[in-house]
Formats: sequence, structure tokens, C-alpha cells
Amino acid sequence: MSKIRILSDSLASQVAAGEVVERPAAVIRELVENSLDAGARHITVEVQRGGTALIRITDDGCGMDREDAMLCMERHATSKIRTKEDLAAIRTFGFRGEALPSIASVSRFRLATREREALSGTEIEIMGGKLSAVKDHGGNHGTVIEVRSLFFNVPARRKFLRTEATEYSHIEQQFRLHAIANPQTAFTLIRDGAVTFHLPGTADMMDRIRGLAGEELVTRLIKLPEVEHLGVGVSGYIGGPGLSRSNRQQQITFLNGRPIESPAINYGLKEGFHNALMKGQYPVTFLFLEMEAQSFDINVHPAKKEVRFHDGFAVREAVARAVKRALETGSKLPTGHVPSLPRLPVAETANVQSELVIPAPSGARAAVSPRAASFLTPSPVISAPRSSVATSPSPPEVTQPASAESASSVEKIPSVAPVRQPEYEEEEDPAKKQMPHFRIIGVLHKLYVLMESTEGLVLMDQHAAHERVNFEKMRKAMEQGGVPSQRLLMPLTLQTSPRDADVLMRNLEALSRLGIEAEPFGPNTFKIEALPTFLKTDDPLAWLDQVIEELQSLSSKSSSLRLGEDMIATTVCRHSVKANDRLALPEIQALLDDLFACEMPYCCPHGRPTLIQMSLNELERKFGRQAP
Ligand code: ADP
Ligand code: MG
Repeated sequence: MSKIRILSDSLASQVAAGEVVERPAAVIRELVENSLDAGARHITVEVQRGGTALIRITDDGCGMDREDAMLCMERHATSKIRTKEDLAAIRTFGFRGEALPSIASVSRFRLATREREALSGTEIEIMGGKLSAVKDHGGNHGTVIEVRSLFFNVPARRKFLRTEATEYSHIEQQFRLHAIANPQTAFTLIRDGAVTFHLPGTADMMDRIRGLAGEELVTRLIKLPEVEHLGVGVSGYIGGPGLSRSNRQQQITFLNGRPIESPAINYGLKEGFHNALMKGQYPVTFLFLEMEAQSFDINVHPAKKEVRFHDGFAVREAVARAVKRALETGSKLPTGHVPSLPRLPVAETANVQSELVIPAPSGARAAVSPRAASFLTPSPVISAPRSSVATSPSPPEVTQPASAESASSVEKIPSVAPVRQPEYEEEEDPAKKQMPHFRIIGVLHKLYVLMESTEGLVLMDQHAAHERVNFEKMRKAMEQGGVPSQRLLMPLTLQTSPRDADVLMRNLEALSRLGIEAEPFGPNTFKIEALPTFLKTDDPLAWLDQVIEELQSLSSKSSSLRLGEDMIATTVCRHSVKANDRLALPEIQALLDDLFACEMPYCCPHGRPTLIQMSLNELERKFGRQAP
């Protein structure tokens, strides 16, 4: 007797359900996609007990006639594709015709649907995959689908469900994805009878993000420039420097409106953010990619979450470019807010001193370069809400210039006051960074500069700040023709392995832009004629070995876009600052000025913070002066 048998339809559906419907959130994904495909303008998602007891999706889409309503419950019944060619150019969310029968095979399922013009509609009930009733339905046009007791007939799967709270959090995440991808559609989420989100349809993506994530996040987002690169359109919003998460939950990306995950996009983001994000941290993104349907394949994952791009490299580059450009230009806007360091109101303009002074502990006064003053904006300034002490999201507030009494709540200390430089102010973008109002207290362990701000205590990592300043200086120099270099009186001879010689040969030009003039000088030998002027090392040959080593590892990992920057960030920069240099007060002030002249002052090129603030509130809490 033969052993092979064709599975019954209901068993086949249950097997498919295992792939399509891994948890309640997946049911919501499939049903909301169907509603969107049906052209719904309003979609309501209702769940009870984390979706395990009930999921009900109500839409005002096109609905179905009786024949379609019966047919849609069959496996591989779909209205969305007919031919092979259709599959290559999918524009709808669904196309496999598997979702409804799969869901119905593992639940108590009810479908009620009516076409707009039809006199009456159809109601169908299915119990664990078996049709139990077909009736007329007199409700509104559109479709209601109810899924009760999910997995009631598959105990093995039910066991795998997590707590109701966890399942609900997946549902909410799924709901957010749909809501962000489709701002024109109104969405409502009802949890155990209470409305959690009620989002009217809007043409403005920001409204939708605000409705879902709150005002605070919105003030910290930067708009991406609309980039089109090698057939990949990129747009959306990203969190400014300093805004990050320890997981990818808020790294949201869409391809043609479909939420997706893809290593190519992750690489692109990593590349774009690479010197603005700490290791192990992930950015906040609302990224929208638009591509021709022919240039990717969505049919690789049962839940259609992953895509395969025909040209993954183009995707990666397009994403990286958009992010880089946004960070460079957008981070100057007041919306590019840094959580640990609230923008501080600049001091009184009525009482401007004629020069910028810092009180040295000895009482001596150090003048500060007028350039620093050009980064000061006149008061009043918009200050973004503070995240460290924020209790509820609030809109940006206009801060009045601090009065002489309130400038320092601790004691009256002469402090750095800004000078207005009219000739600079004309050219400066008014939204440009404001130089915060700091009083330098001293240096801790030859590394951390302690400063008093109107908000509390600010710490600057001297080393990280230096790296940021040098990084930006060198990057600029490199873009403008090369890092200044110094000819050596006696050229050095560098012997290398054949492998190192190869990587050197391929990167002679990049090295020259970094101030290293090297020339082939016999087999596996190079003559080094010039080195960067800033280099502080007693052993240049050992330093060059490190450069080659990093060049080896970078040229395999970095794109052309990044190699130069990475070289500066990893090698050149690190060696331009000596650890534990003791800085005098004027040098500290100069460093601070230089830091605030940077495009991204709040983190070093490796993404570590340069400044940390501890608010008075936080201190008071720590000392028990205030209830936590
Ligand atoms: P797919 O979405 O892959 O086509 P489904 O099993 O999800 O497969 O749905 C089968 C068919 O049922 C769809 O192609 C569509 O014609 C119809 N359908 C499902 N949900 C709705 C809805 N909410 N409104 C109108 N038609 C629907
Ligand atoms: Mg579908």
C-alpha cells in the first residue's frame, strides 16, 4: 500500500496557519491588509485578552458579494493575482489567498460583508475550518471579520502564546505599522472595550506620528531629504543625533507602503548613522522606500515581512545617503534635540558684556574667540522639552531670557555671557545651534570637564570632544583637497607583506588625502615622503602599520562613501589627541567653542556622547531632597 497521501483541505489549512498566523498580531496584520486592499477609509481593530479571546476588524471597504464571500474561504482563492506576470508586479498587500482559510481553520470565525450598492450582504460562520452557517446580513457596507478563541483546536500552538500583555504589545506594534504606512486611512484600536488610539485620516505624516508617538518624539525628528538613487526612492523621518533605542522596535521601514525588514536597509542605516550612534544602539526611523515592483521579490517570507532586492547595494547606498544628508543638514534645526542635554536659554541680552569672558578660578579673565559668538542666537529661544525629567509630552515652549537673579539659582557667579556679532548674524541661519551657557568649574581626573549650566551639572568628555572636533576638521580638509601634511626630511622606508602592499597600492590616493604620501619603492616596499602635520607619535612606522591594518579591515566592510570617513574616525583622529592631556582653562573654552561649531557636537565620531547633563532635579532626587 502506498504511504503518500494528499492532505485534507482542513489539515492543509492548519499547516499553513502555522506559518501565516504565528500569533494574534499576525491575524491583525493579514486582516488589516485585506481591508486596505479593499480600499477602506476607516478601519477599526478591536481585541480582547491580547487577541486570544477576540479579534474584530471592521472596515468600510468594497465588501464582497455572496459568491466571493464563499470563495474567499477556499485555499488559494484570491482576487488579486491571476497570472504569473501579476505575481511579478504585486501592488496589493495580499496575493496568496491563504490568510482567510488559514485563520478560519484555527478559530471560531465569522465574516459579515456587504457591497456598497447591494441590497443585502452575507454572513458566514466557520468553526475550526468547517462551514457552520451562511445567512443574509443587513449591516453596513464593508466587511467585519471576527476571530474568536484563536488556536482553540490546536492546543500545541495555544501553549506557545505568551501572556496577554505580551500578545497585546505585538498587536499594538502591528497596528502602529499599519497606521504609519497609511496616514490617509482612519484607524481605531480598542483594547478590552477601551479606545487606545483614535487616529483620523490625515494627509500629513507628522500628524499621524504625533497621534501614535506623542509630541515629544515629533520634536526630535529630522525630515529626510527626498533622495532617489539607482531607482530607489527614499523619504521619511529619522531621530536626530542623540536619539536612539537599545532595540530595533522603532527602526521602522516600509517598502511601497509595506512594513519590511531587510539586512540591506539595516546596513544602509548603520552606514548613514555611523558616527552618530553608539555601539549597540539603534536609530528611530520612519523610512519609506519606493521601488518598481520588478526590482524586488516579496514572495520569500510567509508573513511577507522580508524582501529580496535584486540590487541590495543600491538600496543600502540610497538609505545611507539620505540619512547622512539629513543628519548633516537637519541636525542644525531645533527639532534635532538631544535628550541628555536640553537646549539652554542664552543669557540676558540687555546686559551684554563687551567681550566673552570666563572667570578663571584665580579670578583671571580669559577672552574667547569671537567666532564662538557667531553660534549664539538672540533670546528668546525655542527650547525643546526635556526628556530626562519629562512627565508628559509637551509642545516646545518659548523661554524668556533668564533674569540676572535666575541665571544661577545656586549663588551669584560671574559667568560666560554671549556677545552679539551683528556682522555674523546676518549670514547665520537663525535655527543654528545655540552655544549653551556654561560656567566651567574644573576638570575631573584630567578627563571630564565639569560645568555648571542653568539646568544643573554638565560633564564633557574632553577626549571625545576633541575627537569630534578633529574629525570634522579633517573631514572638511579631506573634502577640500586633503589634510595638511608635512614633508619628512628623511623619507621613511616601509616594508610590507604582499597582502599589505596590495591594499596600500589600491588606496594610495585616499591616503594622500589623509596627509600620507606613500610611493612604491621596489617589491613590497614603500617610500613615505610626508605625514599629516597633526600626528602626535614617536613611532610613525608603527602608526603606519596600524593604518594599514585598519585599511585592510575597512576596505572589505566600507562602501566607497565611507572609507575615507572611517579612516579618519578610526585611525587619524584617535592619534591626534593624546590621552590625559591637562588642559588650561582657555584651552577648555576653545575646545567648547570648537565643539559647538561642529555639525554634530553631541557625540564623538564613534557615537559616544561628548556631553552629559545631570539636572538639578536629578541631583535633588539623588540627595533625597525630593520624592523620587
Ligand atoms: P489574499 O489577500 O492573499 O488575496 P486572503 O485569504 O487574505 O487572500 O483573502 C482572499 C480574498 O478575499 C481577497 O483576495 C479579497 O478578494 C477577499 N477579501 C478578504 N478580505 C476582504 C475585505 N476586508 N474586504 C473585501 N474583500 C476581502
Ligand atoms: Mg490577504
